[in-house]
Amino acid sequence: KIRTRIAPSPTGDPHVGTAYIALFNKVFAESQGGEFILRIEDTDQARSTAESEQAILDSLNWLGLNWAEGPDVGGPHGPYRQSDRKDIYQKYVNQLIDDGHAFRCFCSNERLDEVREQQRANGEDIGYDGHCLSLSEADIQQKLDAGEEHVVRMKVPTEGTCVIKDVLRGDVEIDWKQIDMQVLMKSDGLPTYHLASVVDDHLMEISHILRGEEWISSTPKQIALYQYFGWTPPVYVHLPLLRNADKSKLSKRKNPTSITYYRELGILPEALVNFLGMMGWTMPEGEEVFSVADMAKAFDVNRISLGGPVFDLEKLNWLNGKYLREMHTPEQLLQRLLDWKFNAEFVTQLMPLAQTRAETLGDIAGLLGFFFQGNPEINEESFAPVKLEEDELKKALQFVLWRLEAQRHWSKDNIFADIKAVADGTGIKLRDLNTPIFIAITGSTASVSVMDAMAILGPDMTRGRLRHALT
Ligand code: ATP
Ligand code: GLU
Repeated sequence: KIRTRIAPSPTGDPHVGTAYIALFNKVFAESQGGEFILRIEDTDQARSTAESEQAILDSLNWLGLNWAEGPDVGGPHGPYRQSDRKDIYQKYVNQLIDDGHAFRCFCSNERLDEVREQQRANGEDIGYDGHCLSLSEADIQQKLDAGEEHVVRMKVPTEGTCVIKDVLRGDVEIDWKQIDMQVLMKSDGLPTYHLASVVDDHLMEISHILRGEEWISSTPKQIALYQYFGWTPPVYVHLPLLRNADKSKLSKRKNPTSITYYRELGILPEALVNFLGMMGWTMPEGEEVFSVADMAKAFDVNRISLGGPVFDLEKLNWLNGKYLREMHTPEQLLQRLLDWKFNAEFVTQLMPLAQTRAETLGDIAGLLGFFFQGNPEINEESFAPVKLEEDELKKALQFVLWRLEAQRHWSKDNIFADIKAVADGTGIKLRDLNTPIFIAITGSTASVSVMDAMAILGPDMTRGRLRHALT
């Protein structure tokens, strides 16, 4: 049975790359009468959050990329969240140690840093030097009895090449020498991605892995683990990564990457998912407008093109416009607008902001228009009222943006604290710093309270506008 999965790590905003990979996994499974499932890979406990997990599930559902099994819908191979599967991994790590495929490593971080430093100085490949491989059983027992902290690392062949059979790329060869003795289990007993992912893909009966090409270089570690366990590896399909217009890997510095950003901007889910389907894929007859079901019907994994697909915003807007024009009745379009932001829940939040400034009801739409628009039209002249030198202004806005990018708890108070910290750090008066932020967010100097506006606009739109103002 064909089974595919999307395995997001809930460490940030829901990424359009995750939706792209999910779409291809889903249509491939469905084209073969198989199943598509979702697993949450939250072994990095320091960076994973429940909010991020929820946002990823919500965004993928919004796009209609639903799954047959997952943490929210359950299923016969659960639990589907790795942090709920800790006991499972321990058993497999012990098995690898017993069979001589993995070993306990007691090296301190200081020692590992020194080794790395030395390797760098000698121009050698950076990696674990195998120090603990030579510990005797007695040494190990003594250290364990003394309660010394340790990790478990996998062994890797010291010579030869690993051949990865990739559906799109043929045989990809990587020298084993380049592969590090990966930590499989950390000192706190939690597995790392490689171990957890291999064990889960096996137990969840995943037959095909479609994922971003950034994972090719570490695939040998996973292939070795399949061999050690005596399991058959899945079929690998490494998809081309999404690109910025300049062909570099799509990055939030050049393009918004959060699905929620596009949702807030007023992109329709069916247009976004259609657009993602054009990344590396063309329909047999060249149709440009197609649904997930259309794509699944026509899908042939061998027809995926490896040329880096460009995430072209103009094309996305064009496609979205096509969907808007194809709505059959005014009521249909109105309904979409209501679902998006023209609803009592959203608009009610804005009323207190307008109330303090408006003299007539007719003033309100103008005051609040920026909540319903994309990036405001701004140019150098827009910043004329700002009392700062251009360099100083850019630097200050950049600092504010960095702080707000790191802000995990979006609220008016926290936004204020971030801006105040930049004011204090740069010596710029808070009032002088507020003016350009105001312009970047609202597009004008006379509008409603900007801290409130940022709190309501949310992190994606706020960061997007600051980024826009900086370019
Ligand atoms: P950073 O901005 O720190 O480089 P990132 O953009 O790579 O991070 P991550 O949070 O590491 O983002 O990735 C989230 C998910 O999105 C991962 O599953 C990753 O494979 C996927 N992803 C990230 N960038 C791309 C891309 N250019 N194309 C396809 N998928 C991507
Ligand atoms: N958790 C990994 C990610 O965030 C999954 C990689 C894989 O598909 O194996 O992309």
